Amino acid sequence: MEIHGLVFNIQRYSIHDGAGIRTIVFLKGCPLACPWCANPESRKEVAPIVWNKNGKSETIGTWYSVEELTKEILKDEIFFRASGGGVTLSGGEVLMQSEFAKEFLSEMKSLGIHTAIETTGCFPKDRLANLLPYVEQLLFDLKIFDKALSKKVIGSDIQLIKENFELANSFNETVELLPRIPLIPEYTTSQENLLSIRNYLIEQKINELHLLPFHQYGSSKYEYLGWEYKMKDTKLLETAEIQAIKELFEKANFTVNIEGLG
Ligand code: SF4
Repeated sequence: MEIHGLVFNIQRYSIHDGAGIRTIVFLKGCPLACPWCANPESRKEVAPIVWNKNGKSETIGTWYSVEELTKEILKDEIFFRASGGGVTLSGGEVLMQSEFAKEFLSEMKSLGIHTAIETTGCFPKDRLANLLPYVEQLLFDLKIFDKALSKKVIGSDIQLIKENFELANSFNETVELLPRIPLIPEYTTSQENLLSIRNYLIEQKINELHLLPFHQYGSSKYEYLGWEYKMKDTKLLETAEIQAIKELFEKANFTVNIEGLG
């Protein structure tokens, strides 16, 4: 039977989430429960979800075959070629639909389109290993390094995440591995957490990373879903706080890019 993937959004002309101008395909399904999640409609199982937006019921999630999704992506090919961009699979968690992702990325590669994925790495290692031959750039989110806190706050296994990170790093001749840290007040921005991540990246011989400051863009989606949004009163970080975190990494000779701040 032909494999299909469940997509909840396609975002064109993005200059984030990978090199050049990119088309981002958001795959539905995520086992984690980050309280700051800006795409709550992606969470839980790989199945369409219904929300109520401005009094209208809407189903989120469309099934695509590899051929159908390829047709969508090729509409932007001219921008990829001109900018060195390509396609990025995001989520949700891409590894929830790893078989579809593999088929699709393999097709993209055969067409000469640059491929990237964004992952939390919180899945059995064989899923990532199967995907890596078709991935050129891997945006790997690192969030909370304390084992108990990571389990409690987002439901993830930090040991597994590290093992997957190291697996990805072992593909460094073909895969550009780029760690990204979401800067979430009260959760990821403690000195202890940031220093644990910094030390780990030094051990892994990584010298570049991206910081993703907390934002509130997803808050209205919780209302549409009828879900509680625990971070609705959380303030954004001050520019000086973000700068101090950037310097913490720069002091250890990292090249640091802050996404969303130009
Ligand atoms: S891993 Fe990403 S998609 Fe999943 S809950 Fe966390 S922020 Fe949301």
